[in-house]
Amino acid sequence: MVGAGNIAGPAWDLTSEYPDAESAEVEADLARFDELAAAIEGHNETLLEFLPVATSVEPDSTAIGVAQQIHLLSEQALRLLSNIGNYANCRVSVDSTDEAALRLQGLLQRRRSRYGDALSPLEQFLDRVDDSVVEAYLKGDIASNTRFQVLHRRERRHELLSLEEERLAGALAEDGIHAWGRLYSQLSGTLRCQVDVAGAQREMGIAAVSGLMLRVDDGVRESAWRSINAAWESQIETCTAALNAIAGWRLELCRRRSIKRDVHFLDSPVHANRIERETLDTLMSVAREAVPLAQRVALAQARAYGKARIGPWDGRAPAPSIVEGPPGVVEGPGIAFDEAIAQIREAYGSVRPEMGDFVAMMAERRWIEGTVSDNKRPGAYCTRFMKSKTPRVYTTYTGGMSDVITLAHELGHAFHGWVMRDLPDAQQTYGMSIAETASTFGESVVRDALLEAATDDAARFHILWEDCSALPTFVLNIPARFEFERKFYDLREERPQRPAEIKALMSNAWEAWYGDCLSEPDPMFWASKLHFYISGTSFYNFPYLFGYLFSLGVHAQRERLGADFYEAYVALLRDTGRMTAEELAQKHLGADLTKPDFWRASVASMHSKVEQFEALASELF
Ligand SMILES: [Zn+2]
Repeated sequence: MVGAGNIAGPAWDLTSEYPDAESAEVEADLARFDELAAAIEGHNETLLEFLPVATSVEPDSTAIGVAQQIHLLSEQALRLLSNIGNYANCRVSVDSTDEAALRLQGLLQRRRSRYGDALSPLEQFLDRVDDSVVEAYLKGDIASNTRFQVLHRRERRHELLSLEEERLAGALAEDGIHAWGRLYSQLSGTLRCQVDVAGAQREMGIAAVSGLMLRVDDGVRESAWRSINAAWESQIETCTAALNAIAGWRLELCRRRSIKRDVHFLDSPVHANRIERETLDTLMSVAREAVPLAQRVALAQARAYGKARIGPWDGRAPAPSIVEGPPGVVEGPGIAFDEAIAQIREAYGSVRPEMGDFVAMMAERRWIEGTVSDNKRPGAYCTRFMKSKTPRVYTTYTGGMSDVITLAHELGHAFHGWVMRDLPDAQQTYGMSIAETASTFGESVVRDALLEAATDDAARFHILWEDCSALPTFVLNIPARFEFERKFYDLREERPQRPAEIKALMSNAWEAWYGDCLSEPDPMFWASKLHFYISGTSFYNFPYLFGYLFSLGVHAQRERLGADFYEAYVALLRDTGRMTAEELAQKHLGADLTKPDFWRASVASMHSKVEQFEALASELF
């Protein structure tokens, strides 16, 4: 039986955490958090006395016991803060008018900054003391679980300025670099575009126009892109000032931090992703080798749309066979939610029955949100409650094929968290470079199963379109962003760049990677892409390429290891919070990420899919 009632997904159950946003249980956790924060602040009075003389602290100093106590309290405080915060966010995601949850979010703001302030003396202390003091701190039960985090952080201690300078730089950043980031967000939220939709002029915000870029109508996508670029063109001096200031701020700090040895602008993003600079260089050189394969996909996509080249508005174009319609409306019967769960369960279960059981458990315990409503926030995510160690998956399920893939993706994240749930809190967070391993793996497993079950060429083409379009995205677009940003930083060392120079730099980067398969470059991409303005993180691009090729590498292990794969996979996921990416790959995949072989094999694993895709594109269009 197929009917609208069966398509929709269920509402999730959050009552295991709190009965309500204004319940006594929430009150109790907030009060407990305040107590813990006050206790940390009390200990800080002692620790702060040691900070100015941190380098002469001895391994038997009383400061070490104080530092351990602060860590212990901070872990409990963070657990509460994150639990209440996730609960409030989950509620607001489902209903943006949930006043009680919105008030709760407000109550957490001040507590979040209080927590950050309370933790800063401990971080400073652990960065500044000698190795022997850190070893004394890590000995014993209290802090030993944080060994990786503490030692990894200390790898950048040569960059430390004096205590006073660090405080000043941190305080000024709020109205300096971060203000530029906020200005950009503000601008992108208020900018209006004049867009031509089916012959009629309409005024729309950037987010709404971006949604048009997912339409199957080539003309709509192109006019959406042109209107977005025209809107940004009207703000070009502002964007230029922001981009120059953000890069200038970071470069100035790098210069000042180059006391013991030169600090490069790539050191920070590479470290934050827990990879080596050598790995990044190898990754980019293999991406270069993979350009012809990615360009073949782009050309086959262009052919399917009846044109010789793709345009810069085609990055997220759907397969041309998809039925056009507003978001949330699915033509035809669609795939019922239970059917989607059954398909994912079977695909996950083909790796190992336990993985299929996990999917069934997520559905049975109602840990998945899939309803459709006007007040829901768009998008999908996976989150985890730190108190109960249970995951939740958020989606708006409308029965489309892409909804099934999204569900498979988020369930992959949930599985990652699930297999880590018994580990110490400190070992449950991982870098962005490997954050998408389990989700992308989950997607591939389900996509492969759907491809195998597909009964006609149109369905096969649709699945392969989704699969193969990752190549132009990750192997052409992401490297173009990276190369642009790197060259921009090099030039910014000399002087701020002018709009015409930045446009030329961006166009050159697009042409260098897309070559002949692109009808025209995207000279305003540096203004329209939010990622260049994230003030807390630079080079928010290469981790996507890393994550894509890394998970293809993991996927390739499935065939190689056969029955032994599942244990190796779970062991790898469990180590993601306590190793660098290189150590992880060496231990669990026997691969050296600083050498090209592993990355080349990932690219090669896409060859046969690209061939099938090309053949179907020629046959169908
Ligand atoms: Zn994800």
